[in-house]
Parts: sequence; C-alpha cells; structure tokens
Amino acid sequence: MFKPPRTDVCNTCAKYETMINSATDDQAKANVEASRVEHLAIAQVPRDLLRQNKQMAENGQNPNLKVVCMDLQQTLSCPSLATGIAYYKRKLWLYNFCVYDLNEKQETMFMWNATVAGRGSDEMASCLLKWLKIKVYQQKQDFLFLRIFCDNCAGQNKNINMLLEALHQVHMKRLFRVEFMLLKGGHSYLPCDRAFRSIEKRVRKRESIATPQDYHEIIRSAVKKFLVVPMIRDDFFDVKALQNEVSRRSTPGFSKACQLVVSHTYPEGYIIKNDYNLEDVAADMIKIRLMKGRSGYTVQRFNLGSVQLACKYPDSRLFTAEKCQDLRVLAGLLGDQAKAWFTALLDEQDRLRQRRLSDVAPDQQEEAE
Ligand SMILES: [Zn+2]
Repeated sequence: MFKPPRTDVCNTCAKYETMINSATDDQAKANVEASRVEHLAIAQVPRDLLRQNKQMAENGQNPNLKVVCMDLQQTLSCPSLATGIAYYKRKLWLYNFCVYDLNEKQETMFMWNATVAGRGSDEMASCLLKWLKIKVYQQKQDFLFLRIFCDNCAGQNKNINMLLEALHQVHMKRLFRVEFMLLKGGHSYLPCDRAFRSIEKRVRKRESIATPQDYHEIIRSAVKKFLVVPMIRDDFFDVKALQNEVSRRSTPGFSKACQLVVSHTYPEGYIIKNDYNLEDVAADMIKIRLMKGRSGYTVQRFNLGSVQLACKYPDSRLFTAEKCQDLRVLAGLLGDQAKAWFTALLDEQDRLRQRRLSDVAPDQQEEAE
C-alpha cells in the first residue's frame, strides 16, 4: 500500500522542543517549559470533552443531540499488488471519509475512487450530507443538534464549505444547530484514527487487493464491522456554490478557532469560539455575519435553504493518458473479474478523452500524494 509519511507532531510542540534544546540558560528553559505545559493542558481540553461526550452519548442523555467524529483516511491505492512491476505504476486512488457516531458507536465509511470525485471540502461536506440523509430519511432519526469533532489542520478553505452546508441545513430547518469542535492537529486522537489503523493493518496482511470492492469487503469484515457506503457521482454536490450567496469569504481568527457554531438563533451567519465551552457565553462568542448587505435579517433576504445544490461532477474525472496506460498494465495482472472492472473504467476514460479532446485538459490530478 502507498503510505505517505505522516507527521503527527504538532507544530507548536516541535517549536517548544527546539527552543528547549537550544536554550542557553535555565531561566529561559524554564519559561519555555512552562509555555509548553500550558499548551499541552489546552490541547487536552477537547480530548476530555470528547471523552465526556462519548459517555453522554452512550447514556443516551440527550436524544436530540447527535455527536460524531469525522476524518479522511490517508489515500488508499488500488490495485495493491506485491509484484515488483506494479510498484512504479500509477494506481487508482481511493478515498475514505469516516463518520463515527458516538451515540451508536458505529463507523460509516464513505468511499469513492478518484474518477468519481476529488477529496476537497465539497466532497467532505457531501459525505456529511449523505450521512445525514441516511440517518434522517432511512433510519428516521430526528435529532436536531449535531456536534462534530474534527481535526483543525484544514484551516479556512476546507472548513467554510462545511460551515455553509451546515447553515444550509439550519436554513432548511433540518437541524437547529451544528457545532464543529476543532481538535488541534498533532493532539487530536479521533476514534476515526483507530478505525483507520485497524483497516491499514488488515490491508497490510493481504498479498494483493484488486478492486475497490475488495477494499470494501476488507473494511466491512474488519474486527469491528464498519459500514461501507460507496459514494457515486450523484452524491457529490457543488457546495462551494453557496459561497456566492454570502458576503464574507475570509475572517481573521477563523483558523485558530476552537469551535465554529451554526445556529437557528443566529441565522445570518456563524459563531466563532476560542474556547471549548459548550455554553453560549455572549462575551466569548464572535458573530460572523454571512448575510449580504446591512439590512436586518429576514428569511426572505437570506435563505440558503432555497438554493438547490448542483452535482459537482457531471462526468467522470479524467485521468492523464499516462496514468490510464499504467492502470491498463496493472489490470492485466489481475483476475478476470477485477480486470473487467478496470477495463470498463478505462474504456470510460478513453471515451471521455475522445469527447473532450479538442477543448478540455485532464482534471487536476493529485499525483503528488
Ligand atoms: Zn502541541
């Protein structure tokens, strides 16, 4: 399996480490040490909160509140083969977005390959939306408050689409309030990580994995039974389009936020909190207005609920011809069924390329992964 190096050390911790090592006198060293202790204490707060929420969810204390964790797994590559010739060939990327339901102690893995969609914030928001649809329409759950624990490494560009999708839900009155509890990178330890590690362990044990469906089977039959929801093109929405409906695009302080909150009590925008207090303390809330203009809020003037999101990808995403060539070679090494699956995918790529030949370049690939 293709495994990019993963650095889990937080930047701040790394900085303190360097400062302590290079400190020349004891007083300077002690000062840095004190700052580090304080930093670690602050980083611990959301983790304790996550633990509390886990207990609360297990006890079923608030049936209106759903608590989840979400995260994107490191990219998986397909096929995964032990033969040397496969090593240098470009693979098909698989993406896996995990939503862990703390109330039900259940992971749902939303999976798609790179011809279906990319792995930007539109895609993450679309997975969350799909999860919500499953809970609300299929399972008839009627929670009104959603609390989401997630990593904060993504920053504003990734989070704004999530926020807008949350506000979309609030304007449609599907949800009253959505809270994003942002765990600081390097110190977050989400239940999703544990699930990913267990998947990666199982993947490593396998000599070869031919198709995405084989991955689904491995993940479904992991020690803990994970639900797998294959995402299709129609599941991915152009959430970014909501940005056209709002005024502010950039907010200082956004990337340092501990919480981002969307609530029916403040439908004109969202709320930034720089602490992990679940209570709304007016003095600690920064209201960020998204509604355009200066007039007062009315549903008629600002209603994302009236926006119909379009599908993000009308077609498959097009790979480069070189990548397709590599995949054809790899397909040749697979069993009949897997080979047929890849051949169909590659034939579709060829048709798409023919059709676009004159006007469009291949879609942006993430070869650097
Ligand atoms: Zn740190």
